Amino acid sequence: MKLVLLGPPGAGKGTQAAMLVEKLGIPQISTGDMLRAAVKAQSPMGMKAKECMDSGALVPDEVVVGIVRERLQENDCQAGFILDGFPRTVPQADALKDVLAELGKDLDSVVSLEVDTDALVERLTGRRTCGACGKGFHLKFDPPGVDGKCRACGGELVHRDDDKEVTIRNRMDVYHQQTAPLEDYYRKEGLLQAIDGMQEIFAVQQQIVSILQAV
Ligand code: AMP
Repeated sequence: MKLVLLGPPGAGKGTQAAMLVEKLGIPQISTGDMLRAAVKAQSPMGMKAKECMDSGALVPDEVVVGIVRERLQENDCQAGFILDGFPRTVPQADALKDVLAELGKDLDSVVSLEVDTDALVERLTGRRTCGACGKGFHLKFDPPGVDGKCRACGGELVHRDDDKEVTIRNRMDVYHQQTAPLEDYYRKEGLLQAIDGMQEIFAVQQQIVSILQAV
């Protein structure tokens, strides 16, 4: 299964992708996670990306296309992959098509998660991630342990800088201007399936699974 999860920040792409990894045994490729790892490692690419990420802007296409191109060539992507947060611009979608063609592959499906802007802001401002094991929480919808630490491993929780309200608004604008056109792009290719992302997590997951079963 070669899948793209499309949707604005906070739509639940990462949550759904992680559940699909368990179910399908194929890797989640999150450009956001890969860029954050590069920032943490202070690699030259991470240093370049940090400024864009902190302001909620997109990292240049050639940087993300480069990391996805390398990642898709790894062995664990042979049976398929779930792209989460990539592509985010039309040039990235074009580049993805080229990379897959070089590998003799094609996308099977693009699932778009649709969520109201106000709900997105609430989801993102309350989102916390364990700095140690990476598990995600939400202060209101999925609270961490009583002491405010990770329920799974006791690690310290991190509030991403770009999950603060001013940056969130900027990320929404960026989504509408640069990423939303991909809905039409993939609709024209006959690949797009839209889902109501306001539903409960497991209902969304079930809908994705039934879409994928029909592909
Ligand atoms: P995410 O975790 O997917 O919300 O990504 C966090 C940030 O990483 C974004 O706001 C961008 O600055 C950057 N980023 C992630 N994926 C991409 C992409 N495909 N193209 C450009 N920038 C990206």
